[in-house]
Amino acid sequence: PLPFADTALEPVISAQTIGFHYGKHHKGYFDNLKKLIADTELADATLEAIVLATHGDAAKKTIFNNAAQCWNHNFYWNSLSPTAQTPSGALADAITRDFGSLADLQKALADVSVKQFGTGWGWLVKDGDTLKVMSTEDAEVPFTRGLVPLLTIDVWEHAYYLDVQNRRADHVNALVAGHLN
Ligand code: MN
Repeated sequence: PLPFADTALEPVISAQTIGFHYGKHHKGYFDNLKKLIADTELADATLEAIVLATHGDAAKKTIFNNAAQCWNHNFYWNSLSPTAQTPSGALADAITRDFGSLADLQKALADVSVKQFGTGWGWLVKDGDTLKVMSTEDAEVPFTRGLVPLLTIDVWEHAYYLDVQNRRADHVNALVAGHLN
């Protein structure tokens, strides 16, 4: 289940967008994955194990794409919040150390998310002990590269097109300013 009501992020993300994004796109990846792994050695594996077992294998690209998109969307919904959450403690200290300030992190995260060419994801990750922002293409997920995901923004067009059409930057900036967990 979603961690918030489908109206909780309005007007930045409308209930209509949540309805299609969660109810059609995310569910579609999940339904596809269940069919793809039924009666295979991956049928009882965790989502993370399926992603790691299929990443980089051309013959298993379809399984990877659907599994990684399930993982990314699970993580995405939990990256969002009806109200902005303010980092504290060790996380706040690490943000100051690696970005200068929370505002600098927000700017860097928005920048990589807006500049991702085509479909993909913007991320805050932990690389060893260092915080970094990055983007990935399509269904790619940072933990296949040994990076620990902390936060993500979906920049596939289905995440924002019903609400702001082609204005990805408006969508990303509004999320970064007020709706990240
Ligand atoms: Mn999506």
